[in-house]
Amino acid sequence: MAEKVLVVEDEKTLQETLAYNLKHQGYKVETSGDGKAAIELARTFHPDVIILDIMLPGIDGFEVCRILRQEMTTPILMLTARDDEIDRIVGLEVGADDYLTKPFSMRELMARIKAILRRVRLIREEMDSDEAATQLLTFDNLTINLTRREVLLDSQSLSLKPKEYELLMFMAQHRGQVLSREHILERVWGWDFIGDSRTVDVHVRWLREKIESEPADPKRIITVRGAGYRFEG
Ligand code: CA
Repeated sequence: MAEKVLVVEDEKTLQETLAYNLKHQGYKVETSGDGKAAIELARTFHPDVIILDIMLPGIDGFEVCRILRQEMTTPILMLTARDDEIDRIVGLEVGADDYLTKPFSMRELMARIKAILRRVRLIREEMDSDEAATQLLTFDNLTINLTRREVLLDSQSLSLKPKEYELLMFMAQHRGQVLSREHILERVWGWDFIGDSRTVDVHVRWLREKIESEPADPKRIITVRGAGYRFEG
């Protein structure tokens, strides 16, 4: 089965070039030049990866990404034309998996798509191999169910974004070890992600707000000055 790519881009020439090149690489492609239509298409087409331009008529790519993130974990590669957009993609609430700055080469885009899909396959394989036995990591009132990708705090299911979950899982599996931001970036976001350490800091802050009883005085995710973070459990 060919892997599916949804291209959301309103510049007709670029949209067509992207679709042409992706099809040439063997992907199944759907295109949209409009944010709202793209959301509908994502729901029905079930893409394996979404290429999402930020500047779109109607709802912009940030909003499209935010809406999609609430209902699916499909990786999203954002296209940006402006430096001030990069800060929002990398650091804040958007939840994209990667981004490319316009103009970019088709070769670069294809490399990114391949890398994203490879990561998704690895995660799926890891999940499948976990299916045999439910794997639980338990730290007092915090339980991570690796099989179901679910986190419970006081038996209540927490709503975590995909990257928050992956970050927590990674740190929990390396409990007690000091993990540098670079190491975390590489393992949770992938070697090809061009974000910086702020991405890790922001996600740690979000996680603390969800799993620490006092986020300002964390007991679970400890900041190790000049070194990174340590998960205490
Ligand atoms: Ca555009």
